[in-house]
Amino acid sequence: REKAKVFAFEAEVNRMMKLIINSLYRNKEIFLRELISNASDALDKIRILSLTDPSVLSALPELVIRIKVDKEKKILHIADSGIGMTKNDLVANLGTIAKSGTAEFLSKMQEAGSQGQDTNDMIGQFGVGFYSAFLVADKVVVTTKHNDDSQLIWESDAGSYSVVEDPRGDTLKRGSVISLHLKDEATEYLEIDSLKAIIKKYSQFINFPIFLWSSKTVKVEEPIEEDEAKSEDEDKPEEGDEDEKEDAVEVEEDKDKEDKPKKREVEKTVWDWQVVNDSKPIWTRKPADVVEKEYNEFYVALTKDHQTPLGKIHFVAEGEVTFKSLLYVPRVQPSDSFNRYGTSTDNIKLYVRRVFITDEFADMLPKYLAFIRGVVDSDDLPLNVSRETLQQHKLLKVIKKKLVRKVLDMIKKLEDKDMESFWAEYSTNVKLGVIEDPSNRSRLSKLLRFQTSHGEKLVTLSDYISRMKPKQDIIYYIAGASRQEVEKSPFVERLLKKKYEVLYLVEAIDEYTLNALPEFEGKKFQNVAKEGFKLAEEEKKLEALTDKFAPLTKWLNDKGLKDKISKAEVSMRLTDSPCALVASMFGWTGNMERLAVSNAH
Ligand code: ADP
Ligand code: MG
Repeated sequence: REKAKVFAFEAEVNRMMKLIINSLYRNKEIFLRELISNASDALDKIRILSLTDPSVLSALPELVIRIKVDKEKKILHIADSGIGMTKNDLVANLGTIAKSGTAEFLSKMQEAGSQGQDTNDMIGQFGVGFYSAFLVADKVVVTTKHNDDSQLIWESDAGSYSVVEDPRGDTLKRGSVISLHLKDEATEYLEIDSLKAIIKKYSQFINFPIFLWSSKTVKVEEPIEEDEAKSEDEDKPEEGDEDEKEDAVEVEEDKDKEDKPKKREVEKTVWDWQVVNDSKPIWTRKPADVVEKEYNEFYVALTKDHQTPLGKIHFVAEGEVTFKSLLYVPRVQPSDSFNRYGTSTDNIKLYVRRVFITDEFADMLPKYLAFIRGVVDSDDLPLNVSRETLQQHKLLKVIKKKLVRKVLDMIKKLEDKDMESFWAEYSTNVKLGVIEDPSNRSRLSKLLRFQTSHGEKLVTLSDYISRMKPKQDIIYYIAGASRQEVEKSPFVERLLKKKYEVLYLVEAIDEYTLNALPEFEGKKFQNVAKEGFKLAEEEKKLEALTDKFAPLTKWLNDKGLKDKISKAEVSMRLTDSPCALVASMFGWTGNMERLAVSNAH
């Protein structure tokens, strides 16, 4: 028999375990969510391999999760018929912090902790992973069988771990069993009802059946013996145990007897594998049959975000390609979203015929919509191709295009209150969209909101147009660092005096956004800090004044400010100020200069 090899955990793992145990002691039950999610991931992995090579399933075709308690020994077993782990996998996956995401999480948590923030809220939003097993167990044994290795036993008491070949041989055929030797204070997880409740709470949307070894009461018919018939009541079954299973279902009829034997119905307790979750994916159900609560629960399961989403859309797209999708707008996006702009993955889960394929296609949605979470499931995409081939598939392009439309549609339909929250959180995303996505520019521009001279409330471009003066055919705007600054700018003096509404663009991105937007509902934009400014009603007057002051402008151009400016002209912008410096039509405004300088620093 091989001797167990003992390993030390990577230092990061020790830190992770400490962190988990210190911050989650009030929320121990999530260990089960984590282990079931790992089981589900392992099943996804073998299923994906089987798409191109069915033989990987031959040792054990079923794809399921089984949970069983051993009350006497105080052990909880979580088994899956997933991909299993080789010896290298065990060391790499359960001995180190393999995933960069986890390492990042670790450093974030430590940072927050050192700043005295409450990490309890934060931690629930992350998958804390395998080591959460030590919240409830003082010893964890992983028995695992991968197609490419023999069956192995990994064992740890959280101090160090050992790996040894299983002397019993390849009993599992394939997959893993995580056996938790529960701490004395965690024995509630030996109770079937608690387990059932926790599975329902966190893992109801797992797409593989989760079986729990549990008892149920069944009605069986039993023959009544002649001499027994009188004392019927004495033979009520006792609290059942596993051994009773067979007796209970054996209801044999004595066919030899002439007259039919008398029978009675009795209740018996039998032990069996019972499915706890509904593994029919929610997005495959008819929207009319899904209630709000289920949508919200699925959202939590998908994102671990406990705030109800701002919006959702569940639809079947038909036409060139058929697919089902369920998408959500989270109430907030991670604070570092723009630092990682364009790199975030795992927000959209792609399924083909209910089979999870990947959540790593970074471009399922354009960058500016990377905050959208949800699933897409298509019957029309091929299953038996590599992810690389799939990523290039022409139907995927069609799907992506439709997804954007649907998302923008959903956003447009948000109710006022939600729209306000949406705008507060995602205005920059929409503005980036206007710049980056020409094909949806006009849809996106309908979502834009700005401050204006009209009042304190944010105003859409349609609002603005509805208030335009009869002869006005241009949308006026000014960009600057703050409302106070632009309000008292000489550029808007006259417009305000004449009661024209002016958009105040006070976010850094605003001016770029309007530069990318040639017009809105047929109206062009005029940056009042740029040349070309006119007021239709005063064109005659301007002509006259231009003539009158021609000698002055000529002198300024040829002598007075020669080499300092490109052009001097009479303008109708001003009332009190004698002059203003204006940018040329295609030049940078003072505001753009300011932004360029502040970006360079
Ligand atoms: P994550 O699931 O985010 O990758 P975990 O800490 O939950 O992180 O798990 C670490 C790794 O251990 C997984 O990525 C996987 O490779 C491996 N693993 C854990 N549980 C199982 C399992 N039941 N079957 C196969 N591999 C597993
Ligand atoms: Mg995990």
